[in-house]
Parts: sequence; structure tokens; C-alpha cells
Amino acid sequence: MVTSKRRIGVMGGTFDPIHHGHLVAASEVAQSFGLDEVVFVPTGEPWQKSNVSPSEHRYLMTVIATASNPRFTVSRVDVDREGPTYTVDTLRDLRKQMPDAELYFISGADAVEQILSWKDVDKLWELAHFIAVSRPGHELSLSGLSGEHVSLLEVPALAISSTDCRARVARGYPVWYLVPDGVVQYIAKHELYTEEATEDE
Ligand code: ATP
Repeated sequence: MVTSKRRIGVMGGTFDPIHHGHLVAASEVAQSFGLDEVVFVPTGEPWQKSNVSPSEHRYLMTVIATASNPRFTVSRVDVDREGPTYTVDTLRDLRKQMPDAELYFISGADAVEQILSWKDVDKLWELAHFIAVSRPGHELSLSGLSGEHVSLLEVPALAISSTDCRARVARGYPVWYLVPDGVVQYIAKHELYTEEATEDE
């Protein structure tokens, strides 16, 4: 009997906090590329950002946000690895756990513009196919990358960012309907984002 390889989406992010832009992007890619599962991978210590919330909070918010979708799972590979998070390490670890799967790394149009600056960029293409999704305010293009390695997908436009969610909470504005209800409750319970950040924002 011939069994086809499982097709696994990998949605990496800081998820500080996870919002509906992330969830819609993952859901649309799963539908369009016939994925069996999308693994959300909250970063440990992201090398490009400072002032990030503790990874355990970001991991738990991601678990809460994805719980209602049976195709969504959350991985601790980056949270549990010491040191800064690089996508090449994320993909290597996932490949070890799922040697027979085809991996599809999902990233927004803003992130894809930067891939050429990522660590071990040539290795990335061996580990996964990349799918760049549209994001309001960013042009969706290959940004000098090869169409052999990267596919582009238009997804419903949600002009939501984690930066904006954090700033709203700090100013006392609601984030209902920008992030899942359980994430709103988690943020309130743990008093996250109560102070206006000064760096990276
Ligand atoms: P921040 O504002 O803190 O930089 P963010 O909203 O960009 O955060 P990340 O966790 O950094 O969220 O994003 C993870 C991935 O999801 C990235 O590839 C990013 O491009 C993509 N993404 C984030 N928001 C959206 C959105 N509204 N629509 C499409 N893709 C998105």
C-alpha cells in the first residue's frame, strides 16, 4: 500500500500575543495546500526582538488560541531550546520528530522580505517549502527568492499586529475580537502588556 507523506505546516512566530491574523493565515494555507496539520511554534528568545514576554506565557496563549481547531497543534521545540531562535534550528528539530513529513513553513509578507538575512538560508530550502501570505501594509512578492522554494498566497486581510495589541492593552483599549476570547482573558489574568513598551515598538 502506498501512503502519501503527511503535509505539515509550520507557523513560527513570537505570538506576543497570538492574534486572528496568525490564525486566519494558518487556516487559509492549510486549506489551499491540503495540509494535514499546522504546528504553531512560539519562539524562545527571538534574535531580532527584545522586550518579549516570557516564552511560557506566549506558549500558553498559543495553546489556548489553537485548541478549538483539531488540525492545529503547538510545539515547544523553540521554547525549550537554549539561546536565540533561528528558523533553521526549528525546522531541523521538527524534521527529526517527523522524518517522513513534508514541511511547509508559513510566514507573512513582512517576514519573507527578510529571509535572505536568516541563518543558514541555503539549508532552509532543503528542510521546508516556504509559503508567504499577504499582510496589510506589505507587498506580497518573492523579494528576490526563487519560486521553486517559495509560494505566495493571498489570505483575507486582517490589519492586526501583536505590537498594536500590546499597545492597546497598555492604553486600556480592548483587544476583544482581535485575539481569541481565551487570550483576552489570559492577558487580563496575568496582567500582561500593562506598561507601554519603549523599545522595538
Ligand atoms: P509584532 O507586531 O510583535 O512584530 P506580529 O504581529 O508580526 O508581531 P509575529 O508573531 O511576529 O506577529 O508573526 C508571526 C508570523 O505571522 C510572521 O510570519 C508574520 O509575518 C505573520 N503575521 C503576523 N500578523 C499577520 C497578519 N495580520 N496577516 C498575515 N500574516 C501575519
